[in-house]
Amino acid sequence: MIEQVHIDALTGILGDKGVVTRAEDRQAYETGARYDSGLACVVLRPATTAEVSATIAYCVRHGIALIPQSGNTGLVSGSTPDASGTEAILSLDRLAKAFELDLDNRSVRVDAGLRLSDLNRRLEEHGLFFPIDLGADPRIGGMIATNTGGSRFLKYGDVRRNVLGMTVVLADEDGTVLDLQCDLRKNNTGVDWKQLFVGTSGAFGVVTECVLNLERLPQQTATALLVPASGAHVMPLLRAMEERLGAYLSAFEGMSGNAVTAAFAHVPSLKNPFQGGHVPDYVILAEISRTWAPREGEQSLDAVLETVLAEVWEMETAPLADALVGPPHEIWALRHALSEGVKHLGKLIAFDVSFRRGDIMAFCDHMKAEMPEKFPGVTVCDFGHIGDGGVHFNLVVAKDSPLLGDPTFEPRLREWVFAVAVETYHGSFSAEHAIGRRNQAYYDLYTNDKLKDMAAGLKTLTSPGKLGSVRFGPARAE
Ligand SMILES: Cc1cc2nc3c(=O)[nH]c(=O)nc-3n(C[C@H](O)[C@H](O)[C@H](O)COP(=O)(O)OP(=O)(O)OC[C@H]3O[C@@H](n4cnc5c(N)ncnc54)[C@H](O)[C@@H]3O)c2cc1C
Repeated sequence: MIEQVHIDALTGILGDKGVVTRAEDRQAYETGARYDSGLACVVLRPATTAEVSATIAYCVRHGIALIPQSGNTGLVSGSTPDASGTEAILSLDRLAKAFELDLDNRSVRVDAGLRLSDLNRRLEEHGLFFPIDLGADPRIGGMIATNTGGSRFLKYGDVRRNVLGMTVVLADEDGTVLDLQCDLRKNNTGVDWKQLFVGTSGAFGVVTECVLNLERLPQQTATALLVPASGAHVMPLLRAMEERLGAYLSAFEGMSGNAVTAAFAHVPSLKNPFQGGHVPDYVILAEISRTWAPREGEQSLDAVLETVLAEVWEMETAPLADALVGPPHEIWALRHALSEGVKHLGKLIAFDVSFRRGDIMAFCDHMKAEMPEKFPGVTVCDFGHIGDGGVHFNLVVAKDSPLLGDPTFEPRLREWVFAVAVETYHGSFSAEHAIGRRNQAYYDLYTNDKLKDMAAGLKTLTSPGKLGSVRFGPARAE
């Protein structure tokens, strides 16, 4: 799969620790978080930007394809190699030493291989955190390359909004190190080049270091489960909450009754708070937070939430059918159990789509109405970050369903879901997981030719070598 002469040369650059050749040691790198696995000719593990540069330069000169990998938690088959056994994995897992905190600037400079949990653990004693919150534990470089969203996008935005600067190594014959380091929030001195590397799956360069915006850790949090009067009342409810809570509102997560039921079935320790154990058709997790400790004489955050919910309850449009204020750890435990719960119902076919907020429920209702006729036996278990327009539109098929024996079933299903999402509702076929081999075909289908040509030009300009699992240019260009 790769000649010994290359292994020897790369070992010369990276040392024994930096070159993984044995099949059993490669396996964890070759296997993705959920759907994918491939075969790598070797796993390369540089520990510094200089080593990344030397490795890339060598591989580009010798035509060795590289797939950058960070935490390997991506969900679109971007971080694993294909099955050919010809691609090398460039893992950033040893690039995790630097940590320079600037308290005045509320920013931190780190190596891109640092784990999100390690970053936040080190920030906690300073009352700070990197505000991208999700159910996995990725590394920062992978978060930049996928522009991770998460549950608190509504308040803090995505990675793009929280990256100030970075160092990138380009896949050219010199392994050019591009210094885009910047600690400034305000900087309008030309093209903002760092944006080229955010959300583009490593196609244009490998992020090795970065400067991140930090936020104050919330010191008070209150949560509630809200039952909307109907699907049509979800957005009026969100608007009413935003009007009354402003920047306090930090999460507004939607959960279908099917997904909640699956979570209760899979995690028996979860407390079912609904009357008689009856799960409603749709439930919303609302969270509010503030960054200071409770002050004497100040209304508690639970009381603030209750007051607001009482006001919403009295609205003429009556958007709320029920509301249960409860401890954040219990309520979030339900939200975090949805993914696993749904997965255990059968074969999961997941879509990470987004819409104008007002179209989310219309899309879900449209699909639920047409599903029984178009694809009988497929259950919709959607949930998602609906405060920012994102839906994890999950479909489940029983493991013994004859549908799974039909090779045309999944392609037909995917084609239909994306067509309704993109063509009918003008949504996105990739809300927050970026592009990988898994959705390359939909990038090809839904991106216009001019944009593909422009992307091909940028690719030639930045990283003409074989880098990443995604092709942003037209199929003929690369
Ligand atoms: C249980 C679970 C929950 C999740 N929840 C969310 C969620 O709420 N929101 C969300 O947005 N995502 C979510 N994800 C998806 C995933 O965690 C994110 O996409 C994540 O940020 C990827 O980071 P990573 O370090 O794992 O990157 P990887 O998976 O290793 O790589 C992702 C992509 O980035 C490229 N890449 C990696 N490192 C670099 C680098 N240094 N330079 C250039 N390119 C690079 C890879 O080639 C690949 O294309 C979830 C995943 C799981 C398993």
